[in-house]
Amino acid sequence: MARIESVGVVGAGQMGNGIAHVSALSGYNVVLNDISQDALDAARETIGRNLDRQLARDLISKAEMDKAMDRIVYTTDIGGFEDVDLAIEAATERRELKESIFRNICEIVPEKTLLATNTSSISVTRLASVTDRPGRFIGMHFMNPVPLMKLVEIIRGLATDQETYEVALEFAHSLGKTTTNAEDYPAFIVNRILVPMINEAVYALYEGVGTVESIDTAMRLGANHPMGPLTLADFIGLDTCLSIMQVLHDGLADTKYRPCPLLVKYVEAGWIGRKAGRGFYDYSGEAPVPTR
Ligand code: NAD
Repeated sequence: MARIESVGVVGAGQMGNGIAHVSALSGYNVVLNDISQDALDAARETIGRNLDRQLARDLISKAEMDKAMDRIVYTTDIGGFEDVDLAIEAATERRELKESIFRNICEIVPEKTLLATNTSSISVTRLASVTDRPGRFIGMHFMNPVPLMKLVEIIRGLATDQETYEVALEFAHSLGKTTTNAEDYPAFIVNRILVPMINEAVYALYEGVGTVESIDTAMRLGANHPMGPLTLADFIGLDTCLSIMQVLHDGLADTKYRPCPLLVKYVEAGWIGRKAGRGFYDYSGEAPVPTR
């Protein structure tokens, strides 16, 4: 069976930096790639801060933290993937973008390299089909924030071979994660259920059923959710939520998945959540303030 020793991660945003973090902490050499140097600089800072937190809670030692930091190379040059055993794509949720990234990766990585996508919703089979190795391509859907969340949803494309599946499972388990299998249908399991619930919360806001605060309080205290749906939407990224709704709507052709116009408007405004400093809440002050 293929042995994974080094991992390439494309996209150094919220998910990519988390995947790089847990991989380095578990002993893998990591090449973290992004087109934006600013995103790479921010990722280095975030990883350092999150490792510091783990150190402060005695979850890791100083030596483990230092080793993890040293194992990550940050680069805007995808050429750095020339020797990785596993390449995980965690770039922006847009099919054409992901397809072009995988075409580029295939020109660089050796034949042995397994390919994985962290997409939240896009067909794994379709992404695999643009590569030269659909058999060695798989969906590994990590949860946000990666260092804290236990689950990796594993999605086999139509062509994914058994060995790739087994290596992906072993890799996820080596990171201390639990896996679950989902079939390759739009948004898989977690987001098929979660994101329409978020979209419904945005409809409740749009129709004036409640304010941002009342909707979040209702679901936190009334349904025992750890976070209200609008807070969660900001945390995920409203661009990602919208993209997932569009994939559900297009892929399942059912009007129950139509994205709420208010969600579309927030994305058009660039108010895409925490990562932009503003979404359903404004994060510029000490405490988040509802924007409606
Ligand atoms: P993000 O916006 O925080 O980060 C995306 C990064 O991709 C950015 O830094 C951007 O510069 C980079 N990028 C764009 N084009 C690139 C290219 N051609 N080459 C290299 N890098 C490129 O987004 P995110 O929340 O980290 O989401 C990334 C992926 O993970 C998406 O597919 C998303 O659906 C998925 N995902 C997100 C969550 C979540 O809760 N946010 C959870 C699970 C999976």
